[in-house]
Amino acid sequence: MELIERFHMDDCKLCNIAHNSHGNRKVQDTVICETENFMWTPGLGAFVEGYSLLLSKKHLLNTGALGNSAIEELQGLIVKIKKFFQKVYKQKIILFEHGSVGDFHSGGCISHQHLHILPTDISGVPEILLKNFEYEIINDIKVLREYDQFGNPYLYYENTDESKYVFKVDVCCNINLFICMDEVKRTVGN
Ligand SMILES: [Zn+2]
Ligand SMILES: [Zn+2]
Repeated sequence: MELIERFHMDDCKLCNIAHNSHGNRKVQDTVICETENFMWTPGLGAFVEGYSLLLSKKHLLNTGALGNSAIEELQGLIVKIKKFFQKVYKQKIILFEHGSVGDFHSGGCISHQHLHILPTDISGVPEILLKNFEYEIINDIKVLREYDQFGNPYLYYENTDESKYVFKVDVCCNINLFICMDEVKRTVGN
């Protein structure tokens, strides 16, 4: 194993969850379910019930760094997770990812591929993102591979209506806060 990869894995909280055996995991690192390449775990500091993370077992920096078949596996798992939230919570979900590339962070809490899952009734992409960053709307998360290949950090945001946005973000930003800000505006006005 390459030295750099070894360093990342020892140092990486998500690798520690992935590589610790079930009995050695802390309660907050409980794995809800897993597939060959991915694990679904509760999100730390969850501010709504059901907030969770979907992460790669391998130390990869972002979803775009996954191969095609792993992305398809991930898409299959996302479909199941959506069905779960629909059935149990009667809610849709927002998915987002701070896609780090190399040592560059795009506001990512951890440089290891992970999608944030947020069950919510709120629909709409945070206004602050639409106003301040260039973006494209994509049909398939496989497009994220281009961002990884060209070394471009990004912020991926999938709305509750399943529309998929990729923001060209190179600064730290707090998506949870942006979603809350929009909701505050809608409820109490500007
Ligand atoms: Zn890792
Ligand atoms: Zn994150």
